[in-house]
Amino acid sequence: MKRIVVLGAGESGVGSAILAQKQGFDVFVSDMSAIKDKYKDELNRHAISWEEGKHTEELILNADEVIKSPGIPETAPLILKLKAKGTSIISEIEFAGRYTNSKMVCITGSNGKTTTTTLVHYIFSRAGLDASLAGNIGFSLARQVAEDPHDIYVIELSSFQLDGMKEFKADIAILLNITPDHLDRYDHCFQNYIDSKMRIVQNMTENDHFIFWNDDPILKKEIAKRDIKAQMHPFSITEKDGMSAYSENNKMIINANNTKFEMNIEDILLKGQHNTYNSMSAGIAAQVQNITNESIRNAFSSFTGVEHRLEPVAKVRGVMFINDSKATNVNSCWYALQCMTTPVVLILGGKDKGNDYSEIVPFVKEKVKAIVCLGVDNSKLHSVFDGMVPNIADASSMQEAVEKCFAFSAKGDTVLLSPCCASFDLFKSYEDRGAQFKDCVKNL
Ligand code: ADP
Repeated sequence: MKRIVVLGAGESGVGSAILAQKQGFDVFVSDMSAIKDKYKDELNRHAISWEEGKHTEELILNADEVIKSPGIPETAPLILKLKAKGTSIISEIEFAGRYTNSKMVCITGSNGKTTTTTLVHYIFSRAGLDASLAGNIGFSLARQVAEDPHDIYVIELSSFQLDGMKEFKADIAILLNITPDHLDRYDHCFQNYIDSKMRIVQNMTENDHFIFWNDDPILKKEIAKRDIKAQMHPFSITEKDGMSAYSENNKMIINANNTKFEMNIEDILLKGQHNTYNSMSAGIAAQVQNITNESIRNAFSSFTGVEHRLEPVAKVRGVMFINDSKATNVNSCWYALQCMTTPVVLILGGKDKGNDYSEIVPFVKEKVKAIVCLGVDNSKLHSVFDGMVPNIADASSMQEAVEKCFAFSAKGDTVLLSPCCASFDLFKSYEDRGAQFKDCVKNL
């Protein structure tokens, strides 16, 4: 019996273990940290052996294949030992892909993955297709393949998941954009990160569809370098010729499958230029899947977006509060600022991933009247923004930040939480940061 070792017992690891056991492998799960009780119970129910708080090498190095959680870096000592032995190390998605013939719609990019994945799923399911979310969202693909199969999986893929993919093939792939992120995991080499994102097209054939943002200079260059077999669907807001989706006279046009779809951009509920891109890509995927224009239109006029992404919270005495806690890098804050039409009081800060703030400086100068720095160490923010805006202040809790923002703002202004940074210095997660923001606003 072949032995599969699963490293990391989160949703994807436990799903992989369940699928591996169902497929008749000898399965062992190992996690360096504590495993959540609900997953321990599940592993026990399936009689799958596991360990937590350690990696016992004798139980791991004898694996025929290892399924690695995307959270474990390639340079972890145990991974290096497995690599030295020549053991195959794959991702949960690669493993699950072997045991299903369902259609795979895969979405990646540096920003916009969750929004676009959720939107594609929303359009597909409202059109009556049996589509299910997987990847970073919802239940793992492996678990669903084992226990609750669907015709179509709409999968959000991070670069870490793509790294562990070899034979897996997407039927429809969306690549939204590539901007520097997670470089600490890629030897501080942007090209390594780019190559990881480009893996989304590997193994695709002429029957498959590749949807990508044509205005991204990095993507354009990478596509030109590669021999991609899939049918190509570029989208753009600056060009029209040869595009599967473009904008013209404030309308979004999608023309990917011999039917022309047109909709006024202002009638699309998701606002902001970045969301026009996200909607274009999702609309192309829907047309490729033969979903009617009427269904696409209905979905675009009713999809309200995903929590913590430019989420309107409330208007308090004429001041609008927007929660964009998921803006954990500078580029996503750039898009948030770009669509602001009022003076902005901006909350920045948290755990800096080596940020270069110069990208947002022009918008800060043009639109931001005050910055509240919310982090354990705000010195870098001060060195960049002091003197650039009329007011700048520090806060060490969300309550203090919201109160200071409110004091800086006047009727008609917007308070925007779009911090450019990870949340782990003061909060459990970006969700926790966004939830605290919303609570504090509601208590004003
Ligand atoms: P991801 O899953 O890739 O992190 P999300 O959909 O969660 O992406 O959005 C993360 C942040 O990026 C949000 O602040 C959002 O406003 C911004 N964003 C969303 N789509 C795009 C895009 N196409 N380009 C740039 N920024 C985007």
